[in-house]
This record gives sequence, C-alpha cells and structure tokens, in this order.
Amino acid sequence: MKSADIRRSFLDFFAQHDHTVVPSSPLVPANDPTLLFTNAGMVQFKDVFLGREKRPYSRAATSQRCVRAGGKHNDLENVGYTARHHTFFEMLGNFSFGDYFKRDAIHYAWDFLTDVLGLTPERLWVTVYETDDDAYNVWANEIKVPAERIIRIGDDPDGGSDNFWQMGDTGPCGPCTEIFYDHGPEVAGGPPGSPDEDGDRYIEVWNLVFMQYDRDADGTLNPLPSPSVDTGMGLERLSAVLQGVHSNYEIDLFQDLIAAARRVTGAQEADSASLRVIADHIRSIAFLITDGVLPSNEGRGYVLRRIIRRAARHGFQIGSEDAFLYRLVRPLIDTMGEAYPELVKAGEQVEKVLEKEERKFLETLDHGMKILEEDLKDLQGRVIPGETIFLLYDTYGFPVDLTGDIARERGLELDMAGFEAEMEKQRERARAASRFSMDTGNLPGLEDHTTEFCGYEYLEGEGRVV
Ligand code: ATP
Ligand code: MG
Ligand code: MG
Ligand code: MG
Repeated sequence: MKSADIRRSFLDFFAQHDHTVVPSSPLVPANDPTLLFTNAGMVQFKDVFLGREKRPYSRAATSQRCVRAGGKHNDLENVGYTARHHTFFEMLGNFSFGDYFKRDAIHYAWDFLTDVLGLTPERLWVTVYETDDDAYNVWANEIKVPAERIIRIGDDPDGGSDNFWQMGDTGPCGPCTEIFYDHGPEVAGGPPGSPDEDGDRYIEVWNLVFMQYDRDADGTLNPLPSPSVDTGMGLERLSAVLQGVHSNYEIDLFQDLIAAARRVTGAQEADSASLRVIADHIRSIAFLITDGVLPSNEGRGYVLRRIIRRAARHGFQIGSEDAFLYRLVRPLIDTMGEAYPELVKAGEQVEKVLEKEERKFLETLDHGMKILEEDLKDLQGRVIPGETIFLLYDTYGFPVDLTGDIARERGLELDMAGFEAEMEKQRERARAASRFSMDTGNLPGLEDHTTEFCGYEYLEGEGRVV
C-alpha cells in the first residue's frame, strides 16, 4: 500500500463511522502565540476541546501536517539517528468532541489496524496509564490482548509521563493508551517501558489521548465539560509497517525524495545519513514556506533558517557545490502535491525563497567549514572550543545546532559554557558601543545593530539545541 492509499483508507474508515473529514490546518497555528508550530492533529481543535468553540460536528478525522523542530516537541536531533523521527510528518487522527470515549476509540483503532489494514495482532503491544483501569479492561477483556502485551506506564521520576498527555503546562490533558508495532528480533530495542525501549524494534504507531481535564495555572485538574478523544498516528511509521520495511526512510515517499536528493547533489552513495536528513528537511522547509514562514533571525523564521542551513551543509558534505535544495521542491510536489494542493500553488514561491536563502549561506559555508577543519586538526581532546563555535556562528552564519550536528557526526562535543562566555563578551561590547553612540550625541548610523541582534536570535531562536 502506498502512503497516499493509507492516508485515504484512514480517512474513509472514519468517515464511514460518522466522522467529518477536516483538512489539515497550516503549520503556523492560528491564534496561538504559545506554540511554535502545529505539532499534532489536535492543535486546530484546541478551543473545541476546551468548550470555547462549537463546530457543526462532534467527530472529526484529519491527516495533519506537523513539524517538531523546536519548542516542547523537538525531534530535530533525532533525524538521521532513529528510523522513526522526522522534523515534518503527517499525523492521522480521529477526534471525539464530547461524543464517544475510551471504549469506542480503542475499538476503532484496533479494527482499523487489524481488520482494514490486516496487521498481525500478535505484533501489536499496548500501553495504558498506570491507573487507567478502564482502558486496561477494554484491551484485556474486549479486544483480548494478552496481559503480557499490555503495559502500564506511570509517571517519570522527573515529573513527566509518556502516558499522561498534556498540551503544555496548562490546558487539556488526560491519560493515554498507545499502540506499538514489533518490527521483530532483527531490529534492536526493547518493549515499551523496558530500559532499551528507545531502539527501533517496538515502534509507537498510534497514541490515543483521553482528554478528561483542563489543567489551570496552579496545576489543578478541572474536569472538562465532556470528556473527549484525540488520537495521532504517524503516517510514515504506519507506511513502514505496511510496506514491510523497518525504517521510515525506506517507504515509497522517502525513496522518491532520497533518489531526487542524490540526483541534485550528485552524491555517490545511493543512501546515506546526509541524504536522509536532506529528504526529511526538504519537507519541513517547503511546507513551512508554503504556510508563510520566511527565513529570519528570530522565532519561527530562525527555526526555518536552521533547518535550511543544516540541510545545505549535508549537501555540501556529500559533494554538492551549488544550491540544490530548491531543486527538490518539484520532486516533493510530485510525491505530495495531490494531497496538499497548497504546496502545488506555492511551489514557485518556495523555490525562489529557498534558492535565495541557500545562496546566501553558500557564500560563507565553504569558508566556515575550512576554518572548522583547521581547528579540528589541532584539537586537543574531544571538545570544540567556545571561540570556534562563536566565530562560526557570528561570522559564518553557522547556527549552534549546525555545529553541534557536525560535532556529533565526529564524536565530538561543544564547549557551550565557552560559547556562552563569548556571547556575553559580545553583548558587553554592544552595550559599550551603544553607550558610546549616546555619549557622542546619538549618531544612529554608527551603531552596530547586527551585534545585538545575534545575541537576540540565539536567545530567542531556540539555538540552544546541541
Ligand atoms: P515517540 O515517542 O516515538 O517520539 P511521541 O510519543 O512523541 O512519539 P505523539 O506525540 O504521541 O508522539 O504523536 C502521535 C504519533 O505521531 C506517534 O505515535 C507517532 O506515530 C507519530 N510521531 C510523533 N513524532 C513523530 C516524528 N518526529 N516523526 C514521525 N512520526 C512521529
Ligand atoms: Mg516524541
Ligand atoms: Mg511516545
Ligand atoms: Mg506518544
């Protein structure tokens, strides 16, 4: 089954069960300045869950484009390292706004996976929240999942929990139940809740959230007017299962993009971590620009800029000498344009913005890499010094996480304390300069705005990821 067929069959299944199929909302959330990007299907329904907004339906299904490359959910560092994480992915979801609850939600999910898609039940594992006996009993007594494959998951020692979902420090929340697929003993990793659960053997495919509460600022859990259901299933992960491959990057959609990335970069190998990163990043880049984000030095625009620069550096790494990312927009439209007409419409604009941004970075990338290689030659120990990180950042436009990406490839670390110290020195210089210009009667043309601005972009642009 192709990814496009899986998407359609999901939406059809829930439409047959009286769900209204609602289009994906944009990646920039409407009316929610607290959220960097749409990172789940429920985002466009937040006010409906809170009872603040009414819709003409009480059941909905979507295929929602999501980006997790900053903010609370940040999977940027996982890309290239796990078989299952992307910065951009599609989340299939069904939603009940005070309509059905745990029992029906679990039955729908199971029926879809085993009846409609024909997955082998023995390969499926489930988790429930420690104290959620209602969910446990549905799985054990109605679906008849054997007890050894139902795992109760509690709170982490640090206060978080995988099985108690919350949108943020405040807002809708409640217990979850998750469905995992066992890719088999040839893949490394342990079942959910075990010490090696982070491997790629047991992969979380579907997360069902039972929204029962609205947490207020002092932490109190207030019951929602009517309990609701929010589910999310990664389309790419499901495609991997159905296409019999163990990595998302081996599915149809990514194979097309990886082949295109190889063509436009002139890379020798048919597959490499860099090609996978590029195939991942072009999706978030193109959809972010489609949804109105432009590369800049702060906030959302800076996250986009960081993704573009990371992708550009990976292209450079595998031998590309020219701008290439913008040439992937057409292949992306070929694979995803049918499902996302907005991408088709914005295509030309995306190419233009991207090419310009790429060329700008190419002016300094080569030189910056030479400086870094020189430094690494004389490196004592395994830590890239703060001065180098700062020089690359300040003069060559290397976001800190890009240097971190290079460091990780080579088994090195970043001296973040040293970098912070350089940043502080720069802020001090900027303060001194602005005092000076005030003392001399405020000659605005002499002020160095760029110096201040860099400090700001680092603080505000979530550049702390290493
Ligand atoms: P994981 O534990 O694997 O990081 P998650 O618990 O963070 O996933 P949820 O927030 O529950 O993910 O999102 C619902 C579903 O979306 C997941 O079960 C998974 O199938 C999919 N998903 C989440 N993050 C990603 C990602 N970065 N790339 C691809 N699919 C994802
Ligand atoms: Mg996650
Ligand atoms: Mg999880
Ligand atoms: Mg989850």
